[in-house]
Amino acid sequence: MSRDVAVVGAGVAGLAVAALLARAGHRVTLLERFERPAPVGSGLMLQPTGLAALARLGLLEEIAALGAPITRLHGTTDRGATVFDLDYGDLAPGLHAVAVHRAALHGVLWRAFAASGARIETARAIATADEQGDRILLRDSAGATVAEADIAIDASGARSVLRALVDPTPPRAFSYGAVWASVPDPGLAPGMLLQRYVSARHMLGWLPAGRSEAGAAPCAALFWSIKPGEHAAWVARYDAWCAEAAALLPPIAPVLAGLPGPQAFAPATYIQFTAKRPWRGRLVLLGDSAHASSPQLGQGANSALLDALALADALAAEPGHHAAFAHYAAARRAHVRFYQRASALMTPFFQSDARSLALVRDLVFDRLKLVPWLRREMIRTLAGLKTGLLAHRSAAALAGAIPPPSPGPAPGRS
Ligand SMILES: Cc1cc2nc3c(=O)[nH]c(=O)nc-3n(C[C@H](O)[C@H](O)[C@H](O)COP(=O)(O)OP(=O)(O)OC[C@H]3O[C@@H](n4cnc5c(N)ncnc54)[C@H](O)[C@@H]3O)c2cc1C
Repeated sequence: MSRDVAVVGAGVAGLAVAALLARAGHRVTLLERFERPAPVGSGLMLQPTGLAALARLGLLEEIAALGAPITRLHGTTDRGATVFDLDYGDLAPGLHAVAVHRAALHGVLWRAFAASGARIETARAIATADEQGDRILLRDSAGATVAEADIAIDASGARSVLRALVDPTPPRAFSYGAVWASVPDPGLAPGMLLQRYVSARHMLGWLPAGRSEAGAAPCAALFWSIKPGEHAAWVARYDAWCAEAAALLPPIAPVLAGLPGPQAFAPATYIQFTAKRPWRGRLVLLGDSAHASSPQLGQGANSALLDALALADALAAEPGHHAAFAHYAAARRAHVRFYQRASALMTPFFQSDARSLALVRDLVFDRLKLVPWLRREMIRTLAGLKTGLLAHRSAAALAGAIPPPSPGPAPGRS
């Protein structure tokens, strides 16, 4: 059954679902608030689940060619104690994540969207929606109707204003956010996500993220966790911070010296929100609009892609939109709940004022992996495979489906 579909937000979830639904024969209009849809933020990690979702969109080879393979996650304290050292290959040989510059992911999804037959209207900020008969009307802040459709998909991200129409529970703000920058990558930690911790109060991260587009220079995401209210103070003492950061991770000193200043970094804040039921009437929530969290477990974009696939499959399987939305919610429930809870539980161990949690983390986390079953479960969790649509697929099968990392210098054990 072919429908008029309005999608709000041209981010990861919106572009993916618009392309999938247009390919399936629906008449899709994507509404984006910005004049030119553009990626926001720095690098992110696509886990094996997100990569499998991109494979279904036919985009895996393209994104793997732009991104940087990540085989190992390594976090230590400022005193050199290992907090975690996890290797995806311990779950299945060849399994790895791919870190990407946001512009690369956006570009790949945009090309799929543009080829799908879906249309886009930009500079359309949707403020509310209401139903009239068997149609849903999307309105701007002046109350004017911007679009109407049989169903509307809210993919407008963590700060969605439409989600309150579905679930009025207010989101909870995390006490810590971060500053992020995309920086040139001189190849200082190929294949590795590096993190350095000072208690749980500070976290420095380095993620090789590949190229923003074909032919561009390799880049990395550099991040530092701070409270949202501390940003002005961090800017004021930027030079002193550079010295502290270089002491935590000495190889980044020349990278920091090459940056223009604090303006190279963008601040980010995080919220926790999980819709109890991600749909009401003709409106359904997708991606961060349905479930936002901190990026501690690196699952947000992956979940957005899995949502898009699940909703497209549900709309193909069910003729009625209520049944399709219920089908979508059921398909995603276990995965969303697990990762939302795990992310909320883990974040204070890495970003909080609680010294006791940092102490527990430093004493316990790295020892857990001595138990082989626990080590595999930790990697399975990171890989996005704990529950949900792809949990039944073995890690080995997923590893075989992801293009292997191109040969490069092997990361050394430290
Ligand atoms: C600093 C940081 C690091 C992260 N790291 C990772 C990681 O390593 N791995 C990972 O998987 N995830 C990560 N995430 C999470 C990931 O970025 C999000 O989960 C993902 O982008 C969600 O996709 P989305 O499509 O739901 O929303 P978004 O990508 O935020 O897209 C929303 C779109 O909607 C548009 N929009 C908003 N409001 C309106 C409106 N009213 N009308 C019209 N358009 C509107 C926006 O302009 C935007 O284009 C990170 C997030 C942050 C902030």
